[in-house]
Formats: sequence, C-alpha cells, structure tokens
Amino acid sequence: MSRRPFVAGNWKMNMLRADAEKLVGELKPLLAGTDSVDVAVCPVYTALAAAAGALAGSKIMLGAQNLHTVESDGAFAQSGAYTGEISAEMLKDACVAWVILGHSERRQYFGETDAGVNAKAKACFAQGLLPIVCVGETLAERDLEQTNAVVEVQTRGCFAGIPAAQAKDCVIAYEPVWAIGTGRTATPQQAQDVHAHIRGVLASIYDEATANAVRIQYGGSMKPGNAAELLAQPDIDGGLIGGAALKAADFAAIVNAAAKR
Ligand code: PEP
Repeated sequence: MSRRPFVAGNWKMNMLRADAEKLVGELKPLLAGTDSVDVAVCPVYTALAAAAGALAGSKIMLGAQNLHTVESDGAFAQSGAYTGEISAEMLKDACVAWVILGHSERRQYFGETDAGVNAKAKACFAQGLLPIVCVGETLAERDLEQTNAVVEVQTRGCFAGIPAAQAKDCVIAYEPVWAIGTGRTATPQQAQDVHAHIRGVLASIYDEATANAVRIQYGGSMKPGNAAELLAQPDIDGGLIGGAALKAADFAAIVNAAAKR
C-alpha cells in the first residue's frame, strides 16, 4: 500500500514570532514544487499566529506541540479554570491541523503518560484535529532488548478506545529517545524493524487495512545526509524533525528526500 509521506518539523521551544515568519518565508519557495509530500511545521504557541499568517497561500500545514484536555460531564472542556493551558478548540481556532502528543521530552520532563496521550488524542478528534503520537524506547530499554515491548505498551495505551476510523488518520512518530537531539540516528534497519513491529501491533488492535493506512514517521537526528536511506524503508512514511527543522535548507532537503521515496 502506498502511503503519502508526511514530514513535520517540531520546532520545540525555539523561534520568536519574527523568526517563525522568516523560516516559513524561506520554506515556502523551497517547498513550492513538492506536492507529493504532506508537510507541517509545529511552532510554540506564541508563534502559531505569526506562522499561520506566513503560511497563507501554501500547502504547508500548521501543528502544535501539545494541548490540554480534561473531561467534564462526559465532554472535553474547551475553556475554564486551567491556568496556563490551551484547549483543542483554541488550537483549531489558531488554524492548527496537527498536534504532537507524547513527545519523549514531555514524557520525561512533564510526566506525560500513555493514558494522558490517549485522552489528548480523543480531544483532538473531537475538534477535528489530528494527532502525531510519539513512541520510543530509552537507551537502557534498547540495551535490555525491551524496545518492541515498550513501543507496544505505548501504542496500545495511546490508542485505547480510539476507533479504527479515527486511528487510520493518526500519525505515529517512532522516536528512539537515545536518538533525539543527540546526532545519533537509528540505522535504517533498526528503525524499519520497529516501524514494522508497530504496524503489527496496530494490525492486532485493529486490522491489516487500518495498520497499513497509518503513517509512521521516524524521528531522531534525521538530517539531509541520512534522510534518504531512512525514508527508503518500506514502513518509514516520513519524519518528525527537530534540529534540522530549524534550518529551511535542511528541512526542505528532507522533504525532497521524502518526495523521491
Ligand atoms: C524531535 O524532537 O522530535 C526530534 C526528532 O529531534 P531531532 O531531530 O533534533 O533529533
């Protein structure tokens, strides 16, 4: 089955409004001819409006890096006394289409759990947003040969109760924690093995058709120099890009490698 590649830039806690406008302004012409790849940029909340304005007239989509959700009377509260938080409806209002959920930095520094990611994914769907669900093992877990078990638990937890009709539109980002921001990348074979395993988990939760529809991005020091060989793997459908997403030429080179896949 052919899945449309999807490359998303996770800008993390970087970029003031003017920086966001500049980067988007540089990306637009570089990506103008790349119609066969879905592309999104995910700025900080305070730069969403600036990025959205700069993205006008381009097919590049806007993403966010988190959202807050709380269930109240069986529905997801979209406003209320949650100081410092942002709801799905607010992201939608800010022209966001995608939301990164469960990034390892959020799991590590902010106590994010699979159950929390699951609730946030459901809150996304309730507002017509789509989640990019991050999974991945630590170095210690890989060394103990627990990688498959870890990503299976994460995938099952994050997708609990999400129907196949919604799951097929989700994106999963496999991001080995030891490869994020370290310059150390999973080998194409290491990444492919885990992607295939995640797809198998999806098939066992849902069915083959759903598993084959879900796009699984690789994330972890993907750069212009290693993107093509990672993206050549049959179960790697794109990338979630951190550091290299902050430079227009590098991000565009990765998108172009995805277009040649
Ligand atoms: C990320 O944070 O999602 C990521 C993949 O970062 P980097 O590309 O910098 O490793």
